Amino acid sequence: MSKVISEELGAIARQLEEQLKFYRELGVADINGAARPAETALRANSKAAAIVEPVIHVSAPVAESVVSTPAPITDAVIIEPVQPPAQTTTPVEEIMPKKKEAVTQAGLFGDLAPPEEPAPRAKSAALPLLESKDPSLEAIREDIGECTRCKLHEHRTHIVFGEGHPQAKLVFIGEGPGADEDATGRPFVGRAGQLLDKIIAAIGLKREDVYIANVVKCRPPGNRTPERDEVATCEQFLFRQLAFLRPKVIVALGSPAFQCLLRTKETITRARGEWRDWNGIQVMPTFHPAYLLRSPDKKREAWADMKKVRDYLSALPD
Ligand code: URA
Repeated sequence: MSKVISEELGAIARQLEEQLKFYRELGVADINGAARPAETALRANSKAAAIVEPVIHVSAPVAESVVSTPAPITDAVIIEPVQPPAQTTTPVEEIMPKKKEAVTQAGLFGDLAPPEEPAPRAKSAALPLLESKDPSLEAIREDIGECTRCKLHEHRTHIVFGEGHPQAKLVFIGEGPGADEDATGRPFVGRAGQLLDKIIAAIGLKREDVYIANVVKCRPPGNRTPERDEVATCEQFLFRQLAFLRPKVIVALGSPAFQCLLRTKETITRARGEWRDWNGIQVMPTFHPAYLLRSPDKKREAWADMKKVRDYLSALPD
């Protein structure tokens, strides 16, 4: 076998191994009915390419002490572009640092392949960032206070502000708290949250490394999609969080988060996997974990999106 062919086969095997690792992280128990552990199957089968179109069987979700219905992910909520009031708009350049040049280096899984795609290239208009004397997360939380600005306060137990590393390079944005989040005051702690933890682990990070927040900070009753007025009232706090955090990448989980950030009517199904821009920060739209729980066959696409995120982050200079 020529050296070139064996190198190509090696690269294919590494790629498959990586994909299988992601499926395992997500709870995939078996692929194409294979009873063997995925890795053993891969090594034992030199025709590994046959696994490229897997039928995915997902193992039962991990038992939870408190079980909630995941927040519904629909494409129903359409957020019209809103012009920010002049007095609340800050030029992006004043808040956001210039992006550094990306360099190619080993991925988080140690693969030396360059990112699948060149650096993201999407452009967008300046989007609202609110001026504030104290931009800190603490000040934003204080400004929210015991909020009664919208009707969501009527049924909430806890405001779910968001949590994570204050210097996180990666931020995940969901749509709004569910029952578990409302009960605990912490984002993504229910079933969807457990899947998000696995997704984070699959790209070589820990939950403590990233920051997680939502578009609305109070639980919509019955886990319905947040309504337009609720989003319009609450999004200012998310924008301030993002302006403070200035991550390298924002992952928008589901249509409501994506539509809120990007001021678009596009659905996540159309937009997922394509880099976008939010005030100079790269945005990767992808499926919400609650949707992935309902449609596990979509995990393959989510993994493709997350690999782009992983590769982009790993190519950044330290
Ligand atoms: N779904 C979300 O969008 N956010 C959470 O925090 C939990 C579930």
